[in-house]
Amino acid sequence: MLDCHNRNITYLRLSVTDRCSLRCRYCMPAEDVPGGDCLCSAEELVEIARAAAACGIRKVRLTGGEPLVRRDILDICRGIAAIPEVEELCLTTNGAALARLAKPLREAGVSRLNISLDTLRPERYAYMTRVGRLEDVFRGLEAAEEAGFTGTKLNVVLMKGFNDDEIPDFLDFSCRYPVEVRFIELMPIGEGRNAQFLPADAVLESHPFLRPLEGSGVARRYRSPGGRGTVGLIEPMSHRFCASCDRIRVTADGKLKPCLHSRQEISLRGLSGEALRLAIEAGIAAKPERHYMNETGRSEAGRRMNQIGG
Ligand code: SAM
Ligand code: SF4
Repeated sequence: MLDCHNRNITYLRLSVTDRCSLRCRYCMPAEDVPGGDCLCSAEELVEIARAAAACGIRKVRLTGGEPLVRRDILDICRGIAAIPEVEELCLTTNGAALARLAKPLREAGVSRLNISLDTLRPERYAYMTRVGRLEDVFRGLEAAEEAGFTGTKLNVVLMKGFNDDEIPDFLDFSCRYPVEVRFIELMPIGEGRNAQFLPADAVLESHPFLRPLEGSGVARRYRSPGGRGTVGLIEPMSHRFCASCDRIRVTADGKLKPCLHSRQEISLRGLSGEALRLAIEAGIAAKPERHYMNETGRSEAGRRMNQIGG
């Protein structure tokens, strides 16, 4: 369905929880966050995805918080994968529980994975995530490959003074493994305001040998000569991609957010059938033309990333 700025909205990012097994410093505070009590049930989430599909959604990404902390995550996947109009069901995960869940997720109909990994150094990983173990993510990556996942992406949030010295190591990783390493610009949202921004152009400036490939969605894409994998740059701050934005988001408590960085929310809770479809259509139509983060230096989202679904 077209929004009022003539963009075709085909992509739903559906948050299934605001809870997480990790506490990344740029995303969540150290202490447990209140909430999580009014999460949509698996049935409600599938119903929302079905209604969104009737409005033209063709790709669904499950996110959070950490989607794999939900005990019924496989039911949610199976339910959404069975919706005929949904061509692609993706999932973004911190990878901590992937060693156990990669195969069941594949069998439940998940087509592709994004795995978040901001450092390749065990001590840094433990520091940044406060509780995580890097080896769990590596085991998860291996399990994903064994389960038959292809096109896996590694999300790396660039932070000056934290992982900028690892850009060569991540490029080397993209040469050795058939994954896309995606460098993502830090956004001034929630705890993200406490970390230091680094423009994604820093990757190109320090590595001019990267060869451009055709872009995909909001990513500029490259390959190192002879590399097995690819490199992507996601630049919400330096290169605003609002004009080609094709997505809407639904939070784990059932609020449709037409734009990540706007306060606008439309409650889908308690709606079903035609009423649910009309509410989603209204949300798509109301999608703002752009965000103003670049000018103001802050997001108007009104929630942290784990509460919206990153
Ligand atoms: N827990 C899962 C994970 O970490 O992949 C899914 C949810 S997480 C919020 C989704 C993505 O948002 C992650 O890749 C994370 O690094 C990214 N993220 C969180 N806070 C961010 C920020 N302030 N700026 C840019 N990306 C951010
Ligand atoms: Fe959890 Fe993902 Fe946020 Fe890290 S980035 S705290 S893994 S939701």
